[in-house]
Amino acid sequence: MYKLDERLAKLRPPVSKPNECKIRLDANESYKNLPDYMIEDIKEMIGNMEFNRYPDPFSTTLCEGFANYYGVKPEYVTAGNGSDELISTINANFITKGEKMIVVSPDFAMYQFYGELNEKDIIKIEKDEDFRIDIDEIINTCRESGARLICFSNPCNPTSLGVPREEVIRLVNNVDALVILDEAYMDFWDNKQSLLDVVGDFDNLIILRTCSKALGLAAVRIGFAVANETLTTVIKSVKAQFNMNTVAQIIGTALFKYPDHLEENTREIIEARDKLQEMLMEMNEKTGIFTKVYESNNNFVMVKTDDADIICQKLRERSISVANHHTFIRITVGRDWENEAVVKALDEISEELKA
Ligand SMILES: *Cc1c(COP(=O)(O)O)cnc(C)c1O
Repeated sequence: MYKLDERLAKLRPPVSKPNECKIRLDANESYKNLPDYMIEDIKEMIGNMEFNRYPDPFSTTLCEGFANYYGVKPEYVTAGNGSDELISTINANFITKGEKMIVVSPDFAMYQFYGELNEKDIIKIEKDEDFRIDIDEIINTCRESGARLICFSNPCNPTSLGVPREEVIRLVNNVDALVILDEAYMDFWDNKQSLLDVVGDFDNLIILRTCSKALGLAAVRIGFAVANETLTTVIKSVKAQFNMNTVAQIIGTALFKYPDHLEENTREIIEARDKLQEMLMEMNEKTGIFTKVYESNNNFVMVKTDDADIICQKLRERSISVANHHTFIRITVGRDWENEAVVKALDEISEELKA
């Protein structure tokens, strides 16, 4: 009889069913679909595709488009089936079972998830009260423990705070571990804080980027790892050979043909986020429903509250979903009417909580 490994028998998929709320502000997706002219362009390219052939294993044209948009060398770029796949692939292959890796908390849950799945020894460093990262603590912990991998997002999901570039450089310079710097939200903050322009100077840095957030392609699953040639050769060697299907490569390539649209679109989302943040701050001044509304560097606003569970439940009853982190709530910016609806609902909920 086949006996399932105990570790595997305990696993469950991360969600039990698709989200059916009318207003979905929980996944940090872009609220805007691609413009029609781009969709037409994509249709034509897909119409001409050779369905019978295997895809380009290196996603060459797609990686060139990315490299060109962000001003990095194409030799430094590997495409993945979402950055999620790259997190998994790097975690599985760059350190071995039982080796130590450092994550910070709160941060994107997938670093720890894949670490545990791959039986890595996880060291979790808690952020302070205001969710700041202590770079010295990471450096010291890394040196003392001999950790081989450090993963964190910058600016951070879910806290929306950013670590300044000089601090990140100091970290990468002062550890022997491999650093995975996940810049999924950097477009919303400030690309001058990114390390993309200097990534080639480090032998221990892999930067992750994604098309799922500012670039609005969550459905298609495209992410990128950017690193010097030595690390890139390893990533390309260990990834599934045909990890990027031709349809995704075509759509991603089409996207980067329109850099002006991408920049304009990102600016628009940032403006909408600022407006949502302002509305939440105003509502909070009136109602006091949150302990704090944080200034965001991402496409969501984080609010701190001891009532997160009940607030999220009451929002869900109104068919609005947000991300419940129990001591705080993460609200993705949506279309104007969605942002107005969530603020109005929170205003009502604050009254219900007082009653
Ligand atoms: C959303 C997100 C990603 C992107 O994942 P994809 O697999 O590329 O969609 C990566 N890192 C963080 C921190 C995120 O929030």
